[in-house]
Amino acid sequence: TSPREFTGGVPVVVEEIRRRPAAERQQLLDDPGFGRYFTDSMFVARYRAGEGWYDARLTSYAPLQMDPATAALHYAQSIFEGLKAYAQPDGSVATFRPEANAARFVRGARRLAMPPVPEEAFLAAVDALVDADRDWVPTGPDQTLYLRPYQLATEPFLGVRPAHEYLFLVIASPAGAYFPRGVHPVSVYLSEDYIRAAPGGTGDVKCAGNYAASLLAQEQAIAAGCDQVVWLDAHEKRYVEEMGGMNLFFVLGTGADAELVTPELTGTLLPGITRDSLITVARERGHRVTERKFSVEEWRAGVADGTVTETFACGTAAVITPVGEVKARTGDFTVGDGTPGPLTMALRGHLLDIQHGRVPDTRGWLH
Ligand code: PMP
Repeated sequence: TSPREFTGGVPVVVEEIRRRPAAERQQLLDDPGFGRYFTDSMFVARYRAGEGWYDARLTSYAPLQMDPATAALHYAQSIFEGLKAYAQPDGSVATFRPEANAARFVRGARRLAMPPVPEEAFLAAVDALVDADRDWVPTGPDQTLYLRPYQLATEPFLGVRPAHEYLFLVIASPAGAYFPRGVHPVSVYLSEDYIRAAPGGTGDVKCAGNYAASLLAQEQAIAAGCDQVVWLDAHEKRYVEEMGGMNLFFVLGTGADAELVTPELTGTLLPGITRDSLITVARERGHRVTERKFSVEEWRAGVADGTVTETFACGTAAVITPVGEVKARTGDFTVGDGTPGPLTMALRGHLLDIQHGRVPDTRGWLH
């Protein structure tokens, strides 16, 4: 599929974009923060049952008009993705493993009983938007253009059943370095009152409702003086699942022999693309990486006897964030000496170097 085609037979109509002056854009790019500003363009395609995908267009970023009965507003039949475009040293722009986001988006659509956006169509839409808004890809250290594809049920109907009409959109937002003043460990709060996902639920897809349901626990974490919530399994509240919007890794031992453990994909946590990439990178660096259940007791005891030397979270937004203090009803503890561990920082640097094109892309991860 060329970037000028969405799905077979559906062309991408490229409209004249209303662009802000370069000086205004530059001002926003100087201090973009995260998710606050949006580029000049957006990608939109529509779906109607019986007709399939139609009316794909690259258009000026603008508010959407919606019927008050729009199904997604009532029943949350809605999914999203998150990936980034990185300015490369040769002046080009690359996204990181967008095929993996496209595949996860298809799985999410199926789980929410929505018609999937074909993977090539997802990629064509992302490419078309990045191409149109190339000047919005910031070039400062560790700055990126965050891309947000999403799909929602737009049919105006209050019956509870899969909608017959959908919108697929891609918007983009410049993002600053996550740690502009150096990497600092986050403190985490183990959620014992609330759960994020249960077996058979929607924990392994990026549906909007998962995030709405997580907010109260996150507020509880903040009230307890922590930065982030860590979710435990729904059944026993014994095994660590993931942190807010990031997957977790535990480092056992030190140096070249250090082993990594990350919670196995049981269906209740999100299969992160950063997680998957780090498993590969760590193995290539000679580390053993195990996907298995990891309990709070093993974490706490491991920290106490020195077995668990580092803990970090990973995801598209922050790449890798070290975990320092852990707060729980059953007692608080601190991983290592509370500063970022050596393997955490080495893997962080390694992945950032790949994404920003500072080392050869031996695995074909840049698109
Ligand atoms: N877990 C959750 C709940 C998330 O929302 C995310 C962000 N997509 C992740 C983990 C990390 O996934 P990724 O590495 O693909 O960004």
